[in-house]
Amino acid sequence: MASYRPVWAEVNLNSLRHNIRRIKKLTNSEIMPIVKADAYGHGAVQIVRTLREEGIQRFGVAFLEEALELRSHFSDSIIMVIGPTLPEYSEILVKEEIIPEIFQVEQAIALSEAAVKLKKNAKIHIKIDTGMGRIGFRETALEDITQISLLPNIYVEGIYTHLATADSPDLSYTQRQLNQLNKLHDRLSASGIDIPIRHAANSPAVMQVSASHYEICRPGLIVYGLNPLEDLAQDIDLLPVLSLKARISHLKTIDPGESVGYGRSFFAERSTKVATLPLGYADGLRRAMSNGGEVLIKGQRVLIIGKVCMDQTMVDVSDIENVAVGDEVTILGKDGDEAITAKELADRADTISYEILCGITKRVPRIYLNN
Ligand SMILES: *Cc1c(COP(=O)(O)O)cnc(C)c1O
Repeated sequence: MASYRPVWAEVNLNSLRHNIRRIKKLTNSEIMPIVKADAYGHGAVQIVRTLREEGIQRFGVAFLEEALELRSHFSDSIIMVIGPTLPEYSEILVKEEIIPEIFQVEQAIALSEAAVKLKKNAKIHIKIDTGMGRIGFRETALEDITQISLLPNIYVEGIYTHLATADSPDLSYTQRQLNQLNKLHDRLSASGIDIPIRHAANSPAVMQVSASHYEICRPGLIVYGLNPLEDLAQDIDLLPVLSLKARISHLKTIDPGESVGYGRSFFAERSTKVATLPLGYADGLRRAMSNGGEVLIKGQRVLIIGKVCMDQTMVDVSDIENVAVGDEVTILGKDGDEAITAKELADRADTISYEILCGITKRVPRIYLNN
């Protein structure tokens, strides 16, 4: 799509390369970066292309459409869906050689039938609920997996779980979850079912729970340069990959007593120079930034005034010298010595940095630096 609006997200692929090299230093296990939600808003195809150049062979996405998009670009990568796929789409999985997550026997039966019909083998990974309480086999895991392992044309390559509290300073619950996975894996081995790959580690577990690394790690957030353990003051030298930028569309000066925006939630107390930015909450600049959030102009912080609109936002630039229409504005990212992090935006919006990244919407073009 052509882009005529001065609003864009910069995705710095050198920062991505830096991050994946840092992550490789944290573990000897294979790394399966998680590129769901269009690679956390960065653009999955370009992110995967770059990570492949860094030697990454296996990628995880949340659902089948995301897997198919990757498959259409990368015929030889291993692609895994780490979320539910309805049994009726088993033939697509088999044909496109996409590894599904299996957490119900019915899914495995449907997949086996599709594989037999297409005269192919289907690789699967079994999901165990060890305490996330979301999806996965529980009490009947041993019998169910035994049954699945006997199905024709099915190869159980992996078994895995998801950790609920790996970002906590208290890792006792995480250890309990891992113990449960270990115990089940041992019991399967003892009954002759050898599953070669185990995995459990999301980003915080890659950073602080080496017992969870097993054969594969599944980092998402740290690949994109955000630290889930910032509150624990653990630093692994990551570089945020994405910045959100725009150019000033309009400038004016308002008098004391005049208001800005919907609902008149801001009144000028002094003569105030107001810059209008051509982006709003439909781009991912959260409405929670109204009257108090900040952006960067010429390396300085300026305050958002009034309510963030759907497509536009106003800021107080009274203290910025020589400001002009067309000047660059950084909503997320670095400008000079100042930086606005996803964490800062998330704290103000009472959410997590993940939601800030995924919340930068499709209508913001992604510009790739250092291709
Ligand atoms: C999203 C997700 C991950 C990655 O989590 P991060 O915290 O971003 O590293 C790993 N595993 C599963 C099952 C997920 O859903």
